[in-house]
Amino acid sequence: MSLFYSDEEIQRLDRQALEALQLFRLKRVISQALKTPFYKERLGSVGINHAEDFKCLKDMEKIPYTTKDDLRDTYPYGLLAAHKDDVVRMHASSGTTGKPTVIYQTQRDLDNWTNLTKRSLIATGCTHKDVFQNMMTYGLFTGGIGLHYGAESLGMFVIPASSGNTLRQFMLMKDFQTTVVHATPSYMLHLYAQMEEMGYKRQDFALKKAMIGAEPHTEEVRKRIETLFGIEAYNSYGLSEMNGPSVAFECEEKSGMHVWEDGYIMEIVDEVSLKPISDGQQGELVLTNLIREATPIIRYRTKDLTSIIPGACSCGRTSRRIQRIMGRTDDMLIINGVNVFPSQIEEVIMKVPEIGNNYRILIRKKGTLDEMIIETEVGPNILTDDTRDLYKLKNRICEELRASITIRPQVEFHEPGRLPVQQGKAIRVIDERGGICCDLE
Ligand code: AMP
Ligand code: ZN
Repeated sequence: MSLFYSDEEIQRLDRQALEALQLFRLKRVISQALKTPFYKERLGSVGINHAEDFKCLKDMEKIPYTTKDDLRDTYPYGLLAAHKDDVVRMHASSGTTGKPTVIYQTQRDLDNWTNLTKRSLIATGCTHKDVFQNMMTYGLFTGGIGLHYGAESLGMFVIPASSGNTLRQFMLMKDFQTTVVHATPSYMLHLYAQMEEMGYKRQDFALKKAMIGAEPHTEEVRKRIETLFGIEAYNSYGLSEMNGPSVAFECEEKSGMHVWEDGYIMEIVDEVSLKPISDGQQGELVLTNLIREATPIIRYRTKDLTSIIPGACSCGRTSRRIQRIMGRTDDMLIINGVNVFPSQIEEVIMKVPEIGNNYRILIRKKGTLDEMIIETEVGPNILTDDTRDLYKLKNRICEELRASITIRPQVEFHEPGRLPVQQGKAIRVIDERGGICCDLE
């Protein structure tokens, strides 16, 4: 059986052919992985010392999971399986400071990724005639650059606007008659809320579609974006460890996200027992990248919760679909698209001697954007001090937090003993972002 197909053929392979292709690619990944001390030991511990020791996809279940901690522990080059001279790019997870989780790509890896981002855009009905305004951040974060190359490869007119600067986004959208945007869902809502104030109307634009992703959002938010702008919005899922966007993407049917299974092996496991669960049941998504030689990552626990949608999609693509991400098994917060761990905040504030022992993190919506307030108790003497000193202290903490988590929260001081204390585990995070505060037209 030949394993060389065109991209269109790949998207319509039957299960047997797709799994044969996955096995072929997985063996390649395993032989790359065995070049790293980390996987040589990991795979060796379950009797896989050569790619040939791996016989069928079912053998996957023997391989221990890879976690974010493994990636951090092997920082910087522990998982690099290519020669450094062959690496052309690196990316890192948006949530990490200090020791980020880094991935490397060769030119071939980038070409493979671009193929999937291009495929994803085509699946949503984009063509070379579209004007694509990319409002995702460019940089170590994979969101911006990832789709950029896919859009160029499709022949779209690409406007690499990056995130922020709403006034300029509107100007570009109007002057270049942008037809497709790529942004976080919260930014799309923010854009709409700003439109009138900035002197624009919906009729000024030629917008048809939005690719929305990088953060959890509900179906209601998607519908709201669609109604407000009069467009179609498509869910885009990815994570830096697996390359970035285009691990899974909605097609024009908008009935779940196709995981591009020729590029990724997906498993859904019970997040506690870590045993496989059946289609339709919610669990943690575990992914193996099949198309990257520089940084092989096998059975990566994403911590993202979703389920496999049983049955075939009416678009004809055979790659299975997952539901939108319902949440995460860990406590990672996503604030306007930036990942923040409460432990990063604790690390900063607990180093400040004036700060007491109790604190909590409040997250809420301000307009359509997220706002973070850190409430901390302070030492007994500090509240009687000069208010200018208090202001300076707050400012210092805010700046230190910004250096660590890249966003600047508000800080509120409370007298000692004023913040609630729990009997059992401390509740540190109060997330009040339930609905959305943007009126429909
Ligand atoms: P990063 O590696 O910094 O790009 O962050 C990846 C994480 O962002 C994923 O593991 C998810 O938790 C989240 N994420 C990305 N895309 C989506 C999406 N479409 N829906 C929900 N969460 C998403
Ligand atoms: Zn489909």
